[in-house]
Amino acid sequence: MKFLSTRGQMQPKTFSDVLLDGLGPDGGLVVPEQVPTISAEQREAWRSLSYAELAAQVIGHYATDIPEADLATLTAAAYSPEAFPTPGTVPLTPLSEQVTLVGLSEGPTLAFKDLAMQFLGQVIPYVLARSGGTLNILGATSGDTGSAAEHAFRGKPGLSVFMLSPLGRMSDVQRAQMYSIDDDNVHNLAVDGVFDDCQNLVKAISNDAAFKADHRIGAVNSINFGRISAQIVYYFWAWLRATDAVPAEERAAATVTFAIPSGNFGNIYSGHLARRMGLPIAKLILATNENNVLDEFFRTGIYTPRSRELTHATSSPSMDISKASNLERFVWDVLGPEEFVTRWTRLETEGTLDLSDHLPRFAAEFGFVSGTSTHADRVATIRSCFEASGTVVDPHTADALAVLPAYLEPGVPTLVLETAKPEKFSVTVAEALGEQSPATPAHILALLELEQHVVEIANDAEQLKAYVAEHALLTPAGAQA
Ligand SMILES: *Cc1c(COP(=O)(O)O)cnc(C)c1O
Repeated sequence: MKFLSTRGQMQPKTFSDVLLDGLGPDGGLVVPEQVPTISAEQREAWRSLSYAELAAQVIGHYATDIPEADLATLTAAAYSPEAFPTPGTVPLTPLSEQVTLVGLSEGPTLAFKDLAMQFLGQVIPYVLARSGGTLNILGATSGDTGSAAEHAFRGKPGLSVFMLSPLGRMSDVQRAQMYSIDDDNVHNLAVDGVFDDCQNLVKAISNDAAFKADHRIGAVNSINFGRISAQIVYYFWAWLRATDAVPAEERAAATVTFAIPSGNFGNIYSGHLARRMGLPIAKLILATNENNVLDEFFRTGIYTPRSRELTHATSSPSMDISKASNLERFVWDVLGPEEFVTRWTRLETEGTLDLSDHLPRFAAEFGFVSGTSTHADRVATIRSCFEASGTVVDPHTADALAVLPAYLEPGVPTLVLETAKPEKFSVTVAEALGEQSPATPAHILALLELEQHVVEIANDAEQLKAYVAEHALLTPAGAQA
């Protein structure tokens, strides 16, 4: 399997290469040259596998340069009971006859980002050890990526993490999960700006090829294909578990719909790849909050990223994104490599991309539909979900639950991806449930008490470069005298 850049100016690369690169050298996103297809027979052969075993199989279709036995060891470590104590790793919980919650948030930082990041926390050190190099991971977070990355990489030899977060725009638990880490290889940088500013700073450094090479910079944002590949696994897992009770002869045609709380378009792009690999997915329901640039795109075909002034701070803050990096990969699939290059340039010059000529294909060919929730919708949904099922959901998951009723189809089970645990966003949960809201668990109370470590920086690429240059790890582990 080789990987290309959407912008068309990168020599084909292997999985291990793109794992450490993040963005392509031409500023594009890496995409698989071909999407592998998985037959119905193959899917059935996977039914008896554990989550870690399934992960090795699914990821193995992309990571073809890593020996199978090694990959199995890496996924067994990533999805160990220590990291994901809940039986089954990703449990399914019925909310109603038709709607089931897919528990993606059973890892160390209580959000779905752990599923991909724990894999990177194994595979990146493995690849580095083969090449004898060091890596300085530079990332931007709206809250959950940062903590998941820091928990996956803390204390790992030969690696450091520089994580940019938007000052004052995360929940208390998100902040505590990140800033309480005191390992020497973890650097928390709070930027005076919004998430998109943080992401633009990362891009500014990634586009400076010399700085990037000199300081051995890598990325683990949702643009990192390693993460995308690990996220495909739970679409297969959820389909397998949702169809366990379906008679064997009907399974091949058993379709399900997924509802996905979306921000940077990483999670749902993995679902799009799973669907292209042949998984019987009827629809991919894309849910946004008030920052609904993606809902607008899937309704009109017109993509107009918004400025920071137009980015609202909402009660589902991990989705407060007005420029969705991974969308470039989907547009590449829609347009094909040649047309992509001419039309994407217009987005850069005109600030808007008009794909309305392709709009009917979004739903008909790719299964995408979308919707927006407001704060009031999410609060009402957390309450109605609790009253109907006894299950408490977080405001991001509530976003998907609020959007999906418009798209329910008779006979098609709908699987809602739980992107975070409610404990992580207790203020909104308390607003919804009042006296019925669950007590804050002792481990969260203890976390909130820990001392925090963070450096504030301006929204300025030069200041960031100076900090990274001063603190980057450049000598391989074990090479010091
Ligand atoms: C990151 C995140 C999202 C958005 O996921 P994308 O892959 O960026 O679309 C949604 N909910 C939560 C809780 C998240 O942490």
